[in-house]
Amino acid sequence: MSEQTLSFGTDVSRLLDIVANALYTNKDVFLRELISNAADACDKLRYEALQNSALASGEFKIVIARDTDKRTLTITDNGIGMDKADLIENLGTIARSGTAAMMEAVKNAGADKGALNLIGQFGVGFYASFMVADKVTVLSRKAGDTQSWQWESDGRTGYNIAEADENIRGTRITLHLKDSASDFLMEDKIRQVILAYSDHIAVPVFVGTDEKPVNAASALWMRSKNEITKDQYTEFYHHIGHAFDEPIMTSHWRAEGKIEYTALLFIPTMRPWDLYDPGRKHAVRLYVKRVFITDQVQNLIYPWLRFVRGVIDSEDLPLNISREMLQNNPVVAKIRSGVTKRILSDLAALAERDPTAFETFWYQFGMVVKEGLYDAAEHRDDIFKICRFFSTNGHRKLTSLEDYVSRMKDGQDEIYYILGENADAIERSPQLEGFRARGLEVLFLSDTIDSFWLQMANEYKGKKFVSVTKGSIDLNKFESREKKEEKAEEPEEQESITVLLSVLSEELKKDVGQVRISNRLTDSPVCLVADEKGVDMHMERVLKIQQNYEPMQNKKILEINDNHALIKKLAGLAAANKDAPALKDAARLLYDQACIIQGEPVNDPSSFVRRMAEFMQRGLAA
Ligand code: ADP
Ligand code: MG
Repeated sequence: MSEQTLSFGTDVSRLLDIVANALYTNKDVFLRELISNAADACDKLRYEALQNSALASGEFKIVIARDTDKRTLTITDNGIGMDKADLIENLGTIARSGTAAMMEAVKNAGADKGALNLIGQFGVGFYASFMVADKVTVLSRKAGDTQSWQWESDGRTGYNIAEADENIRGTRITLHLKDSASDFLMEDKIRQVILAYSDHIAVPVFVGTDEKPVNAASALWMRSKNEITKDQYTEFYHHIGHAFDEPIMTSHWRAEGKIEYTALLFIPTMRPWDLYDPGRKHAVRLYVKRVFITDQVQNLIYPWLRFVRGVIDSEDLPLNISREMLQNNPVVAKIRSGVTKRILSDLAALAERDPTAFETFWYQFGMVVKEGLYDAAEHRDDIFKICRFFSTNGHRKLTSLEDYVSRMKDGQDEIYYILGENADAIERSPQLEGFRARGLEVLFLSDTIDSFWLQMANEYKGKKFVSVTKGSIDLNKFESREKKEEKAEEPEEQESITVLLSVLSEELKKDVGQVRISNRLTDSPVCLVADEKGVDMHMERVLKIQQNYEPMQNKKILEINDNHALIKKLAGLAAANKDAPALKDAARLLYDQACIIQGEPVNDPSSFVRRMAEFMQRGLAA
């Protein structure tokens, strides 16, 4: 018998140590993990046997047996099994993407306390065995093979793998229990854990030689809603979603009519670690008439709902459909559409019923959902219904578009927004001043995705989205009459402003397309805006970074605040002597300031610093 000893990487050893000694206060979960794996293995073989009848085995089952003398607990299934390579790959390496990502996160978290919280988010599956066992032996034969293999490990240093003399069908996992885990030698304890965590498993689970399974052994999603408890839903979600949090939303329904399917879908509370990983697995599982087909159907769930977990069980698809055939199947497309509508309407209902829960959802997944605004035009209206944004209507308060519209001013027929890096930076933008002063609400759009969907979806219920940092917006029409009269300026003052404008235009002609008087500003002297026909300034930056794409270069416009003391002073100076050298420096300083607040670098930092110092010196001398 050829035997091979392999060691775990240091990372795995450390991980196992954490798992075995500190992770769960509740050790029961190891059994849930092993039963969950055994049930998955049965599901996989059931599907393979559809394609290859030689693999067909009898009834699937999971058997749990204990040996009080040897102090062992065994979990046996007649599922797909593992060959040597599978054992190494699945049980012995850190290469499994989840584990690798988890270790990465643990490293980054540094301190062990944080690390533990993180591991809780990932779960450790098979490794959970080492919480209760100081040795684990896995005997397994892959369906279709003749050779069985034995894998054995103390969960610390490494593992042995060898050809096994005993033949088995499926997998048997033997746990050599630690002294502290003696209660798992009691049948009552085992039963109670199965009922608590694994009742929803569709494969029957037997304890000892009992003829009656401990669990209900029917597909949970086929049971009627009022027979399922919240805990059962949650446990099922843990199993099916490989998740460890509470679902924030559970949707369970049966679609009848042209296409028939049952769906039991969950939205996690926590963002899965692989949300942006293109190789992510554990997507929604597709069943056909209770038979697991795959969890890798690309078109079953839109990419912008990729955080949804659960089961869809179709009555219409043929059982022997190959996974490849599913990609372009019209039934799959119809299911996708129905599922999308339902999820979006359930989310809208959640927002009504429990706004706090909904906001938690939105903070976790809003930026992903918004991908749908350009990806799925047919669902755009429903997506808009659940979109939330920060706005000038209150610090860190989310608003819906519907509420925004209800607050629109008389005469306002556009939805104002501002794009930027983050809400904090956006809040201080000078371009908002004039809107704030007139009580006009502006939405803050700070997710990268916002720059993209705005190019595709440019209106909501007939109201155009308009950037407040672009083009000219006539805000004076929102002004009260008194305000307008108060503003009327002396003709003299107007003239000097005109002179200043021409001085600035001349000095800055290389940098800006135009200098003009602003109605956006109340407190700041200047700001930049994009040309009417140009691309929004923040969007331009995002496009450059994300897509390496240089939008058509339209020069920015510098707007000045003719009510600002500094601008008035400069206008006076310009009227007296439009060639005064201080004016040139002032022009550059104003422009540089406008760039800085926009998050753009100044053209020439050393000149900026020199000019600034000179102005300060002069100011202090005066
Ligand atoms: P996960 O179930 O999240 O993939 P686990 O650590 O629980 O992670 O299991 C790792 C892998 O080992 C599984 O994905 C599966 O491929 C394999 N595996 C575990 N238990 C069994 C089993 N009883 N039969 C067949 N394969 C198994
Ligand atoms: Mg597992």
